[in-house]
Amino acid sequence: MRKLVAGNWKMNGLAASLGELAALKAGLGADRPCDVLVCPPATLMAQANWAVKGDFALGGQDCSEQSGGAFTGDISAAMLKDAGATSVIVGHSERRQVHGESNALVAAKAKAAWAAGLAAIICVGESDAERVAGKAHAVCHGQIIGSVPKDANAANTVIAYEPVWAIGSGKTPTSEEIVAMHAHLRKCLTEALGAGARGMRLLYGGSVKPSNAVEILNLPEVDGALVGGASLKANDFLAIIAAIKRD
Ligand code: PEP
Repeated sequence: MRKLVAGNWKMNGLAASLGELAALKAGLGADRPCDVLVCPPATLMAQANWAVKGDFALGGQDCSEQSGGAFTGDISAAMLKDAGATSVIVGHSERRQVHGESNALVAAKAKAAWAAGLAAIICVGESDAERVAGKAHAVCHGQIIGSVPKDANAANTVIAYEPVWAIGSGKTPTSEEIVAMHAHLRKCLTEALGAGARGMRLLYGGSVKPSNAVEILNLPEVDGALVGGASLKANDFLAIIAAIKRD
């Protein structure tokens, strides 16, 4: 399976940051070991699209579950698509925790993404308290069953496993824990979707950096990474991408 390395800029990036996209484009060249996606803030999407010119993909960080109308401040999937996105992250833990988004809302957002012609990158992951209580696998099972709509398949959906305690903390699970969780998620997806789960990419996210990318990105069951902080600087993001061993 061709891997995907996706960068999530979160609420970072002004027009001056577009230079990082130009540097990324120049550094990637034509022969790259994986698919590459950057999710800038929505305010930069159209300018990013001009800068990148299709050289790598762009995605949104969230979308409304509504297709349009009187929803002040919200951004629809169609708006992201119109500005140049081909996918959108939904259910990031910062949305689930800070904005109280439920599994049902995340599933509705994934469907809204598909309706607009975007792929959905659906995030799941346990909190530190849930991990310590030995509930990580059960929590992620519940999130997969509740947040991944039945019509999901490898073409319209990517799953990102992001343990909440690993995001932005510098901490990561052990390689064994990542492999075990990804194998578990693969089973959950098969339970939820049957044949639709086949070939669906399962990314790892949470403190991926140049220093741990070789180990994490080449683990069995890991089909790529969702990268936050280290995607903001083109050189770091390029080093993560270069960590992928070619078949
Ligand atoms: C993220 O927020 O999706 C993420 C993985 O962040 P970081 O890489 O900074 O831990």
